[in-house]
Amino acid sequence: MQPFDYYKPKTFEEAFDYLTLPGKTVFPLAGATDFIPSYRDGVWQADAVCDIKALPGVRDLRETPEGLWVGACVLMSELARSPLVRAHWEVLAQGAEVVGSEQVRNRATIGGNMCTASPCADTPPPLYVLDAVVVLKSKAGERRVPVTEFFTFVRKTVVQKGELVTGVIIPKPPAGTVGEYHKLSRRQGCDLSLVSVAVLAAPRNGGYDWRIALGAVAPTPIRVPDAEAILSKGWDAASIDEAAKAAEKTAKPITDVRSSDVYRYEMVRNLTRRAVRSVAEKLKK
Ligand SMILES: Cc1cc2nc3c(=O)[nH]c(=O)nc-3n(C[C@H](O)[C@H](O)[C@H](O)COP(=O)(O)OP(=O)(O)OC[C@H]3O[C@@H](n4cnc5c(N)ncnc54)[C@H](O)[C@@H]3O)c2cc1C
Repeated sequence: MQPFDYYKPKTFEEAFDYLTLPGKTVFPLAGATDFIPSYRDGVWQADAVCDIKALPGVRDLRETPEGLWVGACVLMSELARSPLVRAHWEVLAQGAEVVGSEQVRNRATIGGNMCTASPCADTPPPLYVLDAVVVLKSKAGERRVPVTEFFTFVRKTVVQKGELVTGVIIPKPPAGTVGEYHKLSRRQGCDLSLVSVAVLAAPRNGGYDWRIALGAVAPTPIRVPDAEAILSKGWDAASIDEAAKAAEKTAKPITDVRSSDVYRYEMVRNLTRRAVRSVAEKLKK
């Protein structure tokens, strides 16, 4: 592997200076679980990395008046184990707990999971149904982007050169909200998703507002408004089947090393049906 320079700033000002060094390609570095394999394999070329883990606030996981603040360098294992996240944002904990292996989860950060922008990443679908907002910072200041506008294509996001994701804000769902994240992969344990589905039902006006997001079946995660509309009117067996078919119609999977598109279409329908049924069962309790 080619050597590269390593910087570890303690302030954002210093970080932005490194990230915008003239004539240099400087990558932000968090857990390095995506960076190192991609750099080693020549997918990414860099002159240097800017380790962002010592920047203020990026390791924080706390409730604020706006909702849950998840700093960009919060680990998957921290999200999965946090009693606060489990109590109010359970679907995110479920996504985090199926990322890779225990070793990977102890390094991998939420910011890295988002910025890599792999369609099969496990935290974006939960963030979609939770209506998360991504917070970005650069020399020009701070901006906020709804997570549904953050990903623009496979491995592409709205993050500009010299800009960092500092964290995500996730509004607190109303009491009685139920969520489920289901991931299908070739083998149990450490493997990437063939298809993933996040489902959330949040109480509203005496009924439920349903939200569904799919992963690994389009260039970016996608919401399924048609299925959400069907379920928001009722969730008997026929409506669940209809919603699952709507999810299949919305998906745009490809054939790749992990699966054929035909199999993925089938699995979108099956997994959506299964996840919605699980949520419906929880609502009965
Ligand atoms: C064995 C193995 C199994 C895996 N299994 C899964 C899995 O099941 N599910 C899954 O979703 N992922 C999986 N991954 C991928 C990976 O672990 C995750 O995507 C992880 O969350 C990346 O986070 P990181 O902190 O390691 O990112 P890094 O590798 O540090 O960074 C990744 C990219 O994001 C950029 N970046 C990082 N943080 C920021 C920031 N705050 N602002 C701007 N840019 C930033 C970096 O410059 C780099 O381009 C696996 C990886 C391995 C090695």
